[in-house]
Amino acid sequence: QLSKRLETVVSFIHPAQTIADIGSDHAYLPCYAVKKGLVKQAVAGEVVDGPFQAAKKQVAADGLSASVDVRKGSGLSVLSPGEVECITIAGMGGPLIASILEEGKEKLAGVQKLVLQPNIAGHAVRSWLVQNNWTIEAEAILEEDGKLYEVISAVSGKGQKLTPQEIYFGPFLMKAQNDAFRLKWQREFNQIDQVLAKLSKAALGKETEQKKQELTAKKQWIQDVMTHEN
Ligand code: SAM
Repeated sequence: QLSKRLETVVSFIHPAQTIADIGSDHAYLPCYAVKKGLVKQAVAGEVVDGPFQAAKKQVAADGLSASVDVRKGSGLSVLSPGEVECITIAGMGGPLIASILEEGKEKLAGVQKLVLQPNIAGHAVRSWLVQNNWTIEAEAILEEDGKLYEVISAVSGKGQKLTPQEIYFGPFLMKAQNDAFRLKWQREFNQIDQVLAKLSKAALGKETEQKKQELTAKKQWIQDVMTHEN
């Protein structure tokens, strides 16, 4: 059985028939997608040997060697251009996901969909998407084992424009404001408060002052979005 987090990622793959899951670890996601008949062919990419071996083992155990190809290499380097319709990248920080996309840009020609699940700093992913002519078409936020996860589904083209707040909170997530969203931003608000309390005791300096201003502005954004009537 797949985690609720990865199942949510899978739910956005349709209508793609070919996927690559980058940073696949045990290749649970591509194996599940193929077994469920959701996709025909999948690539599982892994840069670290342990997870790469684990992926190969899982694929063999599931008898899926003909449809899930496990490849070793960093990011999108394991792909040929035009090979897959959809790429999934899950369970990493937003900046790492964005850097994998940036470094593998030339492999994105022909890719129609990106389903991305940043564990932290989702804004780094959204900002890369809008700067590179991808349009966010759907988002999800969910709680699993006390942790909160964002999932971002984007399609190529259309030149979407987002406000800084939409990049920070997610354009669909901030509209829907489900319980997980409110919990996430309540937690972030409290964390910012704690950092600000520490900074207020720190020695005065240009950097501290800048950080304080930045965090105070973020706190205000969170307050604004949470009190906004939909
Ligand atoms: N995607 C799975 C999930 O969401 O459950 C595994 C997430 S795991 C925390 C992150 C995986 O990404 C690790 O197995 C790590 O080796 C792999 N990884 C990190 N950077 C990578 C890169 N540049 N290219 C390919 N894999 C990478």
